[in-house]
Amino acid sequence: MTTESADLYSVLGVPRDASQDDVKKAFRRLAMEYHPDRNKAEDAETKFKQVNAAYEVLSDPEKRARYDRFGAAGVGGAGSQGFQGFEGFGGFGDIFDAFFRGTGSRRAGPQPGADLHATVTLDLEEAVSGLEHTLTYERVERCPDCRATGQAGAATKPTCPECDGQGELRRVQQSLFGQFVNVAMCPRCRGEGAIVSDPCKNCRGQGQHRVKVERGVKVPAGVDDGTQLRITGEGDHGPRGGPAGNLYVEIKVRPHEVFKRVDDALIYDLPLNIAQASLGTDVEIPTIDGAPVELKLKPGVQHGQVHVVRGKGVPHVRGGARGDLLVRTHVVTPTKLSKAQKELLAKLAESLGTPDIPDDDGSVFGRIRSAFS
Ligand SMILES: [Zn+2]
Ligand SMILES: [Zn+2]
Repeated sequence: MTTESADLYSVLGVPRDASQDDVKKAFRRLAMEYHPDRNKAEDAETKFKQVNAAYEVLSDPEKRARYDRFGAAGVGGAGSQGFQGFEGFGGFGDIFDAFFRGTGSRRAGPQPGADLHATVTLDLEEAVSGLEHTLTYERVERCPDCRATGQAGAATKPTCPECDGQGELRRVQQSLFGQFVNVAMCPRCRGEGAIVSDPCKNCRGQGQHRVKVERGVKVPAGVDDGTQLRITGEGDHGPRGGPAGNLYVEIKVRPHEVFKRVDDALIYDLPLNIAQASLGTDVEIPTIDGAPVELKLKPGVQHGQVHVVRGKGVPHVRGGARGDLLVRTHVVTPTKLSKAQKELLAKLAESLGTPDIPDDDGSVFGRIRSAFS
C-alpha cells in the first residue's frame, strides 16, 4: 500500500480554492446521486463512500488545511495509510444521519467537545406559558489569550523536533513486493508540525480553558416534565479546533396544587355536595393562565363525570391547538351530619326510594379511563 490516493477535491469535483459553501453543495448533489437507496449502479456504494469521506475532510476547515498540507496522511489519524479513512465509517444510516443532521464527523479528526447537561425546574404555569430562562454554567472554551494555540501570546511555535515540522513520520519498509513507505501522523505534535515551547499562562498550554457562561434558553410553551431541549454547539469546545458539543437541558415541572396534567390536558377536581349534584349549580372553575370560567352544571350531575372546557389546557409544545381543561366531578357524601340535616335527608330518602344505576354509567367510566390513563 502506498500513500497515493484519489484527490479529494476531484472526488467532489470542486477546485482547490472552492468555498465551504461550494463544497457543501457539491457534496449534497453527489450524495443524492450516489445514495444506494436511489442509485442501483454497481459502483454507487463505493462512490457514495468516497464522496462522504471527501466531504468529511473538506467540510472541516482544520482537516482541510491538514489535507492541503500533508495529503491523505494528514487526515487519516495516527498510523493510517492511504485512504484507510474510507473504511472508518459506520453503515450508510450513520453517514446519512450525520449528513441530514448537519453534525458532520464524529469518527475521525478533531474530537468534538463534550455534551453538557443541565436541569431547569419550572412551575406548571411556566411550562404552560413558556419562558426565556437564563442558564449559568461552566464549559471548556478555546483560550483567547493564545488563540487556542497553547503558546504564550499566540507566538509562533517552534518546529516539532520529532518530525522536523512535517507532522508525519515516514518509515521505509521492505516486503516481498518491494519497498513501502509507511506514513504515520507524528504523535508528539499530532500532525501540526509545531509544539508549545512557552505555555500560555491562562490555559497552561492546553489551548482551552474552563469558563463560566450565561445563556438565554428559550423554553417553548407546552414543555412537560422530562422534556429535553438541545442547544446545539453550546457544550464544550472541542480540543484542537474540534466542533463544540451540545448543551442538553432537561425540564422538570413541579406538581401543581390545583391542576394535574395528562399530556396536553389539565384536570381540575371539582367537589360537589349531594344537593348541588342533584339540583345543578353554576361554578367558577379556575384556569392556569387567566380569569376563571363559569361552568353551568345541569341537575343530576353524577360522580366522576368529566366536563370539558375547550382550549384551557396546555399548548402543544410544537405549536398548534391547545389542550382542554377537564373538570372531573366528585360527589361527596357527607359523613358528619347535624340533627336537622339528618331529618331532612331521612325525608328525602323516603321520597326518593332506591335509585336505578344511571344508563350512561359505563360510558362515564369509559371516558374517565380514556382521559386519565
Ligand atoms: Zn491559552
Ligand atoms: Zn511532530
